[in-house]
Amino acid sequence: MYIVLLGPPGAGKGTQAQRIAAATQLLHISTGDMFRENVKNETALGKLANQYMAKGELVPDEVTIKMLLERISRTDAKAGAMFDGFPRNVVQAEALDEALRGNGAKVDFALLISVRDAELMARLGGRWICRTCGKLYHEKNDPPKKHGICDACGGELYQREDDRPEVVASRLEKQKPPAALIEHYRKAGTLKEINGEQPLDAVTSALLEAIR
Ligand code: ADP
Ligand code: ADP
Ligand code: ZN
Repeated sequence: MYIVLLGPPGAGKGTQAQRIAAATQLLHISTGDMFRENVKNETALGKLANQYMAKGELVPDEVTIKMLLERISRTDAKAGAMFDGFPRNVVQAEALDEALRGNGAKVDFALLISVRDAELMARLGGRWICRTCGKLYHEKNDPPKKHGICDACGGELYQREDDRPEVVASRLEKQKPPAALIEHYRKAGTLKEINGEQPLDAVTSALLEAIR
């Protein structure tokens, strides 16, 4: 089974993907995490991607699609995966469709998590992430037991550079799912819209219900 999670920055894609992966054993593939890993390791890809990420812009399709196709060509992705942060536009969606078609597979569910702008700002401003395992937190909505420390692994929590208010404004302007992308999945008959402005557990239940 292949699932794509769609939604604006801060909608809860990463958090829900972590929860669904834990509940279903489905592989979680996050292009944002892959780029951040490359930035941390100072690879050529990381240096290139960071020029865009730092400004709240999308990394060029060519680069992103190449990275994603390489990832899904590995054996662990043959049985299925849940994509978080990919595709961001129709060009990326078509590249994914074509690659899956080559394996006799398709995107089975496109789950759109909807949240309004004011709430997105509050979510991104309070987001904390574990440097070691990547687990997501929110200082008010989903705090760790100990300030600054990951419940799951004891790692150090940090805030993303691009969660600063200046960059958030640019991301919200440039990175909402375009209407044509939503239409792409509506036409394919795989689109389901979930109200993301519910408590975390309620959103998880709604998503699990949608893919049952
Ligand atoms: P968020 O989940 O907060 O919306 P991500 O972690 O998915 O952000 O992505 C972080 C950054 O990585 C984006 O702002 C963008 O620069 C880049 N990025 C991630 N996924 C893609 C993609 N599919 N296409 C282009 N750029 C991407
Ligand atoms: P995305 O991957 O879509 O950018 P995240 O999953 O990283 O979004 O969530 C952004 C922030 O909002 C995180 O700090 C997370 O803890 C918080 N958050 C996510 N879902 C909810 C929710 N349903 N209610 C309250 N806070 C949430
Ligand atoms: Zn951790």
